[in-house]
Amino acid sequence: MSHYHPLTEQEAIEVARGIAGVFGPEGELGCREIGDGNLNLVFHVSQASTGAGLIVKQALPYAKVVGESWPLSLDRARIESEALGIEARLAPGLVPKVYHSDNELALTVMEDLSSHVIMRQGLIDGGVYPLFAGHISDFLAGTLFFTSDLGMNQQEKKTLTRSFVNPDLCKITEDLIFDHPYTNADTNSFDSHLRPDAERLWADGELHLEVALLREKFLTHAQALLHGDLHTGSIFVTEQSTKVIDPEFAYFGPMGFDIGAIIANLLLHYAAQEHWSADAASRKERRQYLIGTIRDIWNGFERKFRALWNERGVDRIAKTAGYQDDYMRRLLQDTAGFAGAKAVRRIVGLAHVADIDKIPDASARAKAQRLALAIGTALIKRNRRISSVEEIIEIADSAS
Ligand code: ADP
Ligand code: MG
Ligand code: MG
Ligand code: MG
Repeated sequence: MSHYHPLTEQEAIEVARGIAGVFGPEGELGCREIGDGNLNLVFHVSQASTGAGLIVKQALPYAKVVGESWPLSLDRARIESEALGIEARLAPGLVPKVYHSDNELALTVMEDLSSHVIMRQGLIDGGVYPLFAGHISDFLAGTLFFTSDLGMNQQEKKTLTRSFVNPDLCKITEDLIFDHPYTNADTNSFDSHLRPDAERLWADGELHLEVALLREKFLTHAQALLHGDLHTGSIFVTEQSTKVIDPEFAYFGPMGFDIGAIIANLLLHYAAQEHWSADAASRKERRQYLIGTIRDIWNGFERKFRALWNERGVDRIAKTAGYQDDYMRRLLQDTAGFAGAKAVRRIVGLAHVADIDKIPDASARAKAQRLALAIGTALIKRNRRISSVEEIIEIADSAS
């Protein structure tokens, strides 16, 4: 079976049966492919008699995009399983266990998280996750600090960088986040009522300059090992637990790209309350919960990251007076700018979010889309002047 080919459900069962200690000796194994089928196959293998299960995720050698097929390196499966291993060490308990990986078959066999829900859906269903901000700020502080030059010897870091070059997936991000939304590209997709808004984006020189600067950082600033695709669809939650999945976009990039991704997705959900909240009072309450989560994520991240820097820093020069404060200020500014870019691309670019696209009423949807665009563009334009997370919150509140 070792030569690469997309697995059948029967073959996924055979792979799963080879993992010791998951399934009981008796009882049939069943299998269902549950992925959304764009880039990867995701097989859920389970045993009805014991309730045990696991996930076999396999990369496909192409991505289906607007009817066409983009070739896509299978090496991202190795990147995903190696990133999960590093994240498990640096952020214990916050990623699925990896049982087995096979680079030839481009697959990762991992813990079944069916007891959790994908956070995007959980939020749409009105869920509240009181421990999430604490968990995700642990994840961000641990993974970003210890893979940066602050927490890792630079020679080791450069060696590790080689394992996470990831050109194909970085190209997707480069095009779909930093290029296409700002020009009349074929891959863009938006409701026809947004045409004038899109045309304003395409003509906004001030915005284009900031996006060019953010793109340069994305391309050149190898600050830490990023997850690279940290939206609410890459996070499984319960009220007690948080698990980050799907790090196939992992590469060494600017930390604010990961922090900004989470904040952007919470802001998109904030905008989507035009529909998902029943009335003005519940909308206000829901938005306060989302804003509180954003505040707790940044403040928790900053406190934990500074503590790691002070207690676990490997670099004498990083202790230079004033340097840490300057670094944290730039990190917040990057976070704001990347959050803005991630919000904008979800409205006019190729890939959207269900929070907004699933709003059935066209006028509520248009309101949510325009709000998300207003927040996103303001974050991008102001990113280099932001000095506190409260300014990010103020941008969201004053746009709504
Ligand atoms: P892709 O890279 O194709 O987006 P994901 O890793 O995000 O793939 O997985 C796609 C879907 O498969 C998830 O949204 C989730 O429904 C399911 N899935 C992925 N990993 C697991 C897991 N460990 N346990 C349970 N379901 C999973
Ligand atoms: Mg997917
Ligand atoms: Mg995914
Ligand atoms: Mg993915």
